[in-house]
Amino acid sequence: MNYQKILEEIKKEIKPLFKDGKVADYIPALKRVKPTHFAMSLQLFNGATYSVGEENCKFSIQSISKVFTYAMALPIYKKEIYKRINHEPSGNPFNSLVQLEYENGIPRNPFINAGAIVITDMLESVYKGKTFSKILEYIKEVSDNNEIDYDKEVALSESQFGFRNIALVNMMKSFTNISNDTTKVMDIYFKQCSISMSTKELSRAVLYLANHGVDPITKKRFLNESQAKRLNSLMLTCGHYDASGDFAFRVGLPGKSGVGGGIVAIVPNLMSICVWSPKLNDKGNSLVGTKALELFTTKTRLSIF
Ligand code: GLU
Repeated sequence: MNYQKILEEIKKEIKPLFKDGKVADYIPALKRVKPTHFAMSLQLFNGATYSVGEENCKFSIQSISKVFTYAMALPIYKKEIYKRINHEPSGNPFNSLVQLEYENGIPRNPFINAGAIVITDMLESVYKGKTFSKILEYIKEVSDNNEIDYDKEVALSESQFGFRNIALVNMMKSFTNISNDTTKVMDIYFKQCSISMSTKELSRAVLYLANHGVDPITKKRFLNESQAKRLNSLMLTCGHYDASGDFAFRVGLPGKSGVGGGIVAIVPNLMSICVWSPKLNDKGNSLVGTKALELFTTKTRLSIF
């Protein structure tokens, strides 16, 4: 298959959509991004890569970080994880408080904010003060790349304007589902959301998820088969908040979005993909990015369905 030609076609076809959607504006540091950025990268098992657009331009990975922290926690906590976080779609926005109250502080899944905050808390119980550097270390290892860091301005903006996230952590603390100091946990969570990566780097970073937990290039194992299966199935059912069904319907791949406009997606046993375009649809997922992935699976027939 001529992947490069397909990517070039997609780049042309998505152009009319740049007028739609809205850049994330819940924090000032994200509002400033140029709305017409676009990049899409494919990473194959044999090491081949294909890209269009600004493949090396770093952006805020935001909720895509939830994939990495969940992947770190799974081998440590195993089934214990499900005592504190469920594995069902939420059908609610990423930062919803309502459901959490009804469900006694147990988040629906690890890919909504509340669930990711519990995971960060669980990691802090293990790494005690070193959690954020461990998260960065993990992402560098799965990416096979040392050039990854976080954006301090975005992290500061997250903590200055993160009122809802702070409400979430406090509510969960009141239900005893947070063990560590809430300020400490949120400092890590805000930093992990502020990690900056390019589409080329992110597509490389999630390659092991397309290969049952083993990086097909370095041969390092990060998850066992069962853990990789569970993580991918959660990306399929919960990776796009209350638009997860729509993403499965249109794209048909496990994927995870972030409000920075990035989306990672997995084609099992073949490749990993990352697309980035900052304007979001009304559910907080990249509008052009979702369309680009939809075009990709239509043109290549690589949807899992
Ligand atoms: N930093 C964002 C928040 O916690 C992450 C949400 C997202 O990327 O969807 O509000």
